[in-house]
Amino acid sequence: MSQGIIDNLVAELTRLPGIGRKSAQRLAFFILSMPANEAKSIADAIIRVKENARFCSNCYNITDSDSCAICTDSSRDKTSICVVEEPSNIIAVERTKIFKGLYHVLLGALSPLDGITPDKLRIDELIQRIKRDGIKEVILATNPNTKGEMTARYITELIKPLGIEISRIAYGLPIGSDIEFADEVTLSKALEGRRTL
Ligand SMILES: [Zn+2]
Repeated sequence: MSQGIIDNLVAELTRLPGIGRKSAQRLAFFILSMPANEAKSIADAIIRVKENARFCSNCYNITDSDSCAICTDSSRDKTSICVVEEPSNIIAVERTKIFKGLYHVLLGALSPLDGITPDKLRIDELIQRIKRDGIKEVILATNPNTKGEMTARYITELIKPLGIEISRIAYGLPIGSDIEFADEVTLSKALEGRRTL
């Protein structure tokens, strides 16, 4: 049955978030019309990310080697850390082109009711980095929602005794939102207008 392979591709594509049956059909027929090498490079990229992606041993960004591209970039300010919840948040902050330091990914946000206690996040690792690497400034860019705020407050209490500069992005970001979906202008303002804690 010749329709089978297209149906199969449509079914696979509908697994992706935000892709309903109609979008999946459009994508499937688009892929069908693509040059074979282009379609193959999409498939290869998916396989490569699943086989090689791991967390950076320093900041927990996604990488395919021990340290990520940001941690190994000698032009970045190694005394400043921007703390985010997820690796995808780094892409959002990078788009603003304002922050030139390093990142630290917590891999989540505090949510005690869901069992996400501080030991489940990369908070200890953050404190160790601050002490070990002579960090002078920490910017808390956790999401402006309840969990993100709770996480920022918890980390602030831990960092304060270390006597370094701590700030929290706030200005311009709608409460209850996710920085991943903030547009560049809004997130730029939030970074520039960060307040010292
Ligand atoms: Zn890294």
